[in-house]
Amino acid sequence: MDGLDPFPDTAQVEDGGLTLAGLAASALADEFGTPLLVYCEQTIRAHAREYRTAAPDALVVYGTKAFPNTAIMRVLAEEGLGADVSTLGELRYAQEAGVPAERLVVHGNNKSDEELCAATDADAGYVVLDSVEELDRARVVGVRRMLARVTPGIEAETHQAIRTGHVGSKFGMSPEEALAIRDALEGIHVHVGSQLLSTAAACETVTWLNGFLAHSEWAPGVVDLGGGLGVPTEPGQAAPSIADFVSALVGGLDADASVILEPGRSLVAQAGVTLYRVGSVKRSGGRAWVAVDGGISDNPRPQLYGARYTALVANRAGDAPTGPYGVAGKHCESGDVLIDSVELADPRRGDILAVPATGAYTLAMGSNYNAVPRPAAVLVSDGNARLIRRRETVEDLLGLEA
Ligand code: PLP
Repeated sequence: MDGLDPFPDTAQVEDGGLTLAGLAASALADEFGTPLLVYCEQTIRAHAREYRTAAPDALVVYGTKAFPNTAIMRVLAEEGLGADVSTLGELRYAQEAGVPAERLVVHGNNKSDEELCAATDADAGYVVLDSVEELDRARVVGVRRMLARVTPGIEAETHQAIRTGHVGSKFGMSPEEALAIRDALEGIHVHVGSQLLSTAAACETVTWLNGFLAHSEWAPGVVDLGGGLGVPTEPGQAAPSIADFVSALVGGLDADASVILEPGRSLVAQAGVTLYRVGSVKRSGGRAWVAVDGGISDNPRPQLYGARYTALVANRAGDAPTGPYGVAGKHCESGDVLIDSVELADPRRGDILAVPATGAYTLAMGSNYNAVPRPAAVLVSDGNARLIRRRETVEDLLGLEA
């Protein structure tokens, strides 16, 4: 690990223990229980400001799917951001957070009539049509400002499950279909994939857009360039800075249009650290295993995308590693492995294991597998911690039984 990368900006080692925004990780774990998702407010604000600085004229909307949470969305709204919402639920989160209507962008590859109505009722800034079929239904319920999500046929270099702009994608319509309905549109939307660790796909997208718009003599009023910037989650991984990624996208655009950006992961991933308590430590067939009190239910990304993470024994963060360990979850699946191998400092039962860069698409994609209640989340800032999502209980789960 290079220093405390990829931990949040405020992470430090003090008196041998990991601190986040001046608070000892082990004290947070004691107070709020584990697993616990700790978000650093300073890091979230810094990333929001980087986007606003890199593209001062653009509307920047948070990809709510990364982690729907009203407290975090309120912080982002204070920084001038809006929200990209793709379900009724995400729309409600944005409204509860007080995101101004004109900063709402409504997505969804299978919007129901109810969702289109809700977008109209909310007076959302834009609705992004995902198929030509949607146009008539949107008109009937009075949707006013529409963009078309176009599939440009770009194979972004990322896991196939989060590649979205390729030929045959379930998302969007063909460029020809968008042209056929352009009179009904304010503009065009393109998002080619997520966890992009280079600017290559961004450059390709803009080159394609410039060519397409010039060739079709379409001068849209709005160009929405989606999200996609990736974050390093383990040592040795690199990602473009927000400034470089935005410059590749917006800087290369020929169109004289209002620009929308929809970052999700790059706003909140690095701000989030998951704290687990170590249960058993054992050896099996030559491998050393550390088992923690969460796993696939709070972070399914290793299984879904082969995501790789690093970890630190938070209560002995200053100690040198003593060897490689696999970090196993508590679920009844051999595949419930959070980290295949990471160097740790002699982990023991009762220790707190901190897994950084887990703020995006982790708890948001969590489940109740094995009837495990999902973790709490706290927002830390300047030595204060605030519960922003309470821990589920087994009673919550039993309450769903009919
Ligand atoms: N916009 C759209 C349309 C998306 O589908 C996504 C996520 O897949 C995002 C924005 C956010 O992407 P990311 O979190 O990679 O920035």
